[in-house]
Amino acid sequence: MTQSIKGIHFKTQKPVSVSFEKNRILDISEKESNTDLFWIAPGLVDLQVNGFKGKDFNEEVLKVEDVKDITKDLWAIGVTTYFPTLITNSEEKIGLAIEKIIKACEDKSIDETIEGIHLEGPFLSMEEGPRGAHPIAYIKAPDWDLFCRWQSLAKGKIKMITLSPEWPESVFFIKKCVESRVKVAIGHTAASPSQISEAVNAGASLSTHLGNAAHAFLPRHANYLWEQLASDSLWTTMIADGFHLPKSILKVFLKVKSEKGILVSDATKFAGMKPGIYQSHIGGAVALDENGRLSMRDSPGFLAGSAKSLLDCIDHLTSNQILSHENAIEMASVKPMEAMEIRTDCGLKIGNRADLIVFGLEEGKISIKQTIKAGEVVCSNI
Ligand SMILES: [Zn+2]
Repeated sequence: MTQSIKGIHFKTQKPVSVSFEKNRILDISEKESNTDLFWIAPGLVDLQVNGFKGKDFNEEVLKVEDVKDITKDLWAIGVTTYFPTLITNSEEKIGLAIEKIIKACEDKSIDETIEGIHLEGPFLSMEEGPRGAHPIAYIKAPDWDLFCRWQSLAKGKIKMITLSPEWPESVFFIKKCVESRVKVAIGHTAASPSQISEAVNAGASLSTHLGNAAHAFLPRHANYLWEQLASDSLWTTMIADGFHLPKSILKVFLKVKSEKGILVSDATKFAGMKPGIYQSHIGGAVALDENGRLSMRDSPGFLAGSAKSLLDCIDHLTSNQILSHENAIEMASVKPMEAMEIRTDCGLKIGNRADLIVFGLEEGKISIKQTIKAGEVVCSNI
């Protein structure tokens, strides 16, 4: 059965009718009237999601049902594709988390939404600052056999790994990943500029949340930030939640990486929760304030991860006139899929998969009215 939605095209700003059948966009035609209140854009894509609304992929208590609940809660805020992100842990614990995610993917709509798993660790820097909140006890040199054991449990669904190229084993490991179509991102790193460029030459193609998980002080010229920004082939993911990066740095990153910039939420389970004091599985007691800033309760100067969604990141950039809605949405939908090179049928075009959002703008902020995943309305507030 053919279905259709009407609204203003997020790019052309013209009223359109978008029809879709099964899971494909059948037609996009311009309409005469200009009375539409809502906008139509591609569904959002988040390459880094640790958890949402009280559930975290990295917690042992995670259940298969929780993976499904997170996915449904993300649909409600316009995310039609995401990568559950598993951080540094023991082989066994990462393996258990993988198994639960894969079990949840037996449900077709969950499987289609979880395009891949993002493994952030354990092959990261041990140095304070770059390591961030990753437990040092489990950080180690890149180990291809270990990765293959996880990939086997994941039935090939690990599509992205963040590592630090400061380890001598990195070049071999990156080449093996690239051969097996796993994207390698540089992150949580203390690597030298030459180690960064060797990683890029070996096939690393992204930077993970550039500007965060870094030393407080760096040499002014020879440092890993400049080297990654200067690399034309690296896509750059950034957390634009209003707390992780100051506006001036976001502006510079987005200018340098205007074609290869990607927004990620890096949301923890505290995203979507009410303000309060909570226990975090990695950092002890944390405080979530009225503005959505998540910090260590006993050291409020230190962030304890992100509690904002991808939608919040878009709103932060547009309300501060750093990006237009069109560009911010592209960086949180089409661009991440382009970087991952898994699918080529993404975006608001005829023939592409019908992953769409219908939204209103209320005081400049996006309010999701409908989310359509592979041609199926998975959330509706109309
Ligand atoms: Zn991180």
